[in-house]
Amino acid sequence: MKAAMFHGHEDVRLEEVDVPQVGPGGVLARVEVALTCGTDRKMYLRGHPLFEPPFVFGHEFAGTVVEVGSEVENVKPGMRVVAANSAPCGRCFYCVRGAQSMCENLYLRLSGAFAEYIDIPPPLVQKNMLEIPEGVSFRDAALVEPLACVVHGIERSGIRLGDTVVINGAGPIGLMFVRLASLRAACVIVTDVRDDRLVRAKQLGADVTINVSSIEDPVAAVREVANDGRGADVAIEAVGLPAPWQNTIRMVRKGGVANLFGGCASGTTITVDTALVHYSEVQIRGVFHLTPKTVVRALGLISEGVVTSEQLVTSELPLDRLDEILRLLVSHDNLKTAVRP
Ligand SMILES: [Zn+2]
Ligand SMILES: [Zn+2]
Repeated sequence: MKAAMFHGHEDVRLEEVDVPQVGPGGVLARVEVALTCGTDRKMYLRGHPLFEPPFVFGHEFAGTVVEVGSEVENVKPGMRVVAANSAPCGRCFYCVRGAQSMCENLYLRLSGAFAEYIDIPPPLVQKNMLEIPEGVSFRDAALVEPLACVVHGIERSGIRLGDTVVINGAGPIGLMFVRLASLRAACVIVTDVRDDRLVRAKQLGADVTINVSSIEDPVAAVREVANDGRGADVAIEAVGLPAPWQNTIRMVRKGGVANLFGGCASGTTITVDTALVHYSEVQIRGVFHLTPKTVVRALGLISEGVVTSEQLVTSELPLDRLDEILRLLVSHDNLKTAVRP
């Protein structure tokens, strides 16, 4: 089969490789659509500390089952499926306390999607593979994993009806936050450094957009329009850099929530004014990854058309045009690319 093989940073090649074997607990699916994602971008530019190359690049996909392991129940060839990229064990210290994204034995796989076929390993088949409802396209369904992370982030933000919410960063993840926050909040403020992304944020429900590229004090600009200068009820960081993390904390009102969602490079630190945490009771939260419950909710939102690939996919290419796919992956002009093997 054709596959985009990751050999190292900035070295991904289209190759002919064997179709993966599936064991008794696994499933083989034909990839119908794969999507690029910020994690792929990071991996392409820097490599990944956890995974030894070579492996098939890409991890967001939706497909059709072609082969089912002998021990798998309730899955049949021809079934349309989508799978998240991880599975919690369900038995460890954290899983039994309901914090499955903190699972001590989290099974994680960030590969396999940019190919004609993908093997879905047993932990994913058991915990995080879902049948795509009738009428939902493969392209929409493939959004389930990133959206499940955002659903998790929304649930942990405590947004109440009528709140003022600020979202810093209007990439694919930030835009999903905009869409979901706008369903609850009275006022959604979005900041980014690119006008094209802010236009899209408006289309997805942002009330106020602020291009912070030329602004000296983004915190003051946001606070001015949030609760008459008091600051936002909830501020969400969807960039993944220490400076916006710090700004996000300073954008919330007394007692408000700062949800620091974007993962920063390991080893980085931030500075927080202790008065904000003590006298102003600002609540600082980090939110990581997804849980099987948020995967189910994400697919529900996709089925209802709340979040669609139309909103987030800005290009579509066959796998054969890998060079172009990789060029778009590193370009900030593009949000997500739909890859058709
Ligand atoms: Zn992803
Ligand atoms: Zn666990």
